[in-house]
Amino acid sequence: EAIWGCDSLDKANSLIASRSTPICLPNYVAGELRLPSSPSTTFIDSFAPKTGSLLCRLPCAQQDDVEEAISYARAAFQTWSKTTRAERSRHLRRISELLQEHRELFAVWESIDQGKTLERARIEVDRAISNFSYFSTYILHEQTAARVVDGVALTYEHRSPAGVFALISPWNMPLYLLTWKIAPCIAFGCTAVAKPSEITSMSAYLLGVLLQKAGLPAGVVNIVLGDGPTTGAALVASPLIDGVSFTGGTPTGIAIRRATAHQIRKHMSLELGGKNPNLIFADAMAPATRERTIRIAASAAFENQGEICLCGSRIYVERAAYAEFVREFTEYVAKNYTLRKTVGAVASRQHYNKIRGYLQLAADEKATFNLGAVPPLLDRDGSQGYWIAPTILTDVAPGSLLQQDEIFGPVVTISPFEDEEDAVRLANASEYGLAAVLLTNDGARMRRVGEQIEAGLVWVNCWLVRELGTPFGGMKNSGTGREGGEYSRDVFTVVRTLHLPAY
Ligand code: NAD
Repeated sequence: EAIWGCDSLDKANSLIASRSTPICLPNYVAGELRLPSSPSTTFIDSFAPKTGSLLCRLPCAQQDDVEEAISYARAAFQTWSKTTRAERSRHLRRISELLQEHRELFAVWESIDQGKTLERARIEVDRAISNFSYFSTYILHEQTAARVVDGVALTYEHRSPAGVFALISPWNMPLYLLTWKIAPCIAFGCTAVAKPSEITSMSAYLLGVLLQKAGLPAGVVNIVLGDGPTTGAALVASPLIDGVSFTGGTPTGIAIRRATAHQIRKHMSLELGGKNPNLIFADAMAPATRERTIRIAASAAFENQGEICLCGSRIYVERAAYAEFVREFTEYVAKNYTLRKTVGAVASRQHYNKIRGYLQLAADEKATFNLGAVPPLLDRDGSQGYWIAPTILTDVAPGSLLQQDEIFGPVVTISPFEDEEDAVRLANASEYGLAAVLLTNDGARMRRVGEQIEAGLVWVNCWLVRELGTPFGGMKNSGTGREGGEYSRDVFTVVRTLHLPAY
């Protein structure tokens, strides 16, 4: 309650500093905020990345508490699945309005909890607001396909809510991604047990408070806190869960597939990792577009400290413009991406150490650090915060792990390519296929190259532009299934085809 009532960054910081014991975040189950009742509950410490200090504790929900939350979601499904679209639309609208009202509060806490800048957090809260407002409108205007077959039968698709969903999200854009699942799930008449990342559970807790305030019927959305191996695994494996919408790393996606392989009927949407290429053709460095090219490449690389699954972390530049691009890109990033101002802290101690390991590898492999360096080892208490400066590497071998693994931090590699064929080959030389950026002024090439790239999203001369009805999702090991507009409808509904006599 202390946190809910605190609406400015200064107040929030002094609240953290003044508490001798950190607050313990409750679950949101059956419309109530409460700690789990299981006697075997353990607690997880959560740290503020910018200071390295203990921010809060959260319970790690055990199997019995997860099962209890699922049972409330199942009970709520009986009535929620029968509500009218207009009624569900009103609930979503109300939630989006309340989020709008408390925008700054959510942004402040998201920024403290995740490490991102306050400005970036505001953008993400705005997207969370849109997630609810978009689907509140979408369901009112949803169309059903009907056709006459051979003059004999009138055929139409009938959709009904698919059931109770496990909604699991990662730590990089906590509220944005959790609400990207919750909003369509309840819009299409399903109910949910949601689990945020144990590294960033603060905004999920605040969302629980908000859903209660919004008057969403009890049990429609339940939020359980906890880690992956205990809470997440119990949730996805439950036979009482009808579907899973998961966003996170590819290894976790594989673990979820494995754990549910025998449950064929379970709906499965997996949004996984990426190692996204950014192809820069020499013509994009013409005087008229040079500034735009560099600006897009820089934001694709370093927005949110590179902690966006869609970040363009492998830059390839046509050889004729390579040296010039490396020089100007480095100057631009050094000037515009400064720690604390435009670049936040990385999300956790563990993640800091992971990124540091890759940068040590870069040093060992004799890559050139055009910007950045191997960050220092954290002190035992990590009290200086988890800060890693934007790092630009060149002279990295194509086979290096630096070009293949998802580092998920403020680290980018730049390599040259010879021609279009080489560019496409390099772009596709990855187990991942989530997104790509293409920077060129040649209209024919935009399509010719764009249509050959193995990625679910290809942005030409732009990045991170999204319309919420377009399909979102990855190819290859970046996932399966698409979400957005009617694609989300496919995830959260079951469809039957009815054949009626056409007379
Ligand atoms: P993660 O896979 O470690 O964790 C994601 C979530 O899954 C967390 O809530 C975690 O507790 C839970 N989890 C872990 N093990 C589980 C299990 N066995 N069963 C069920 N749940 C389990 O990912 P992360 O480190 O939190 O996030 C970073 C990853 O997310 C990156 O790979 C990034 O690319 C990816 N990501 C993808 C998208 C996308 O849309 N494709 C968007 C954002 C992030």
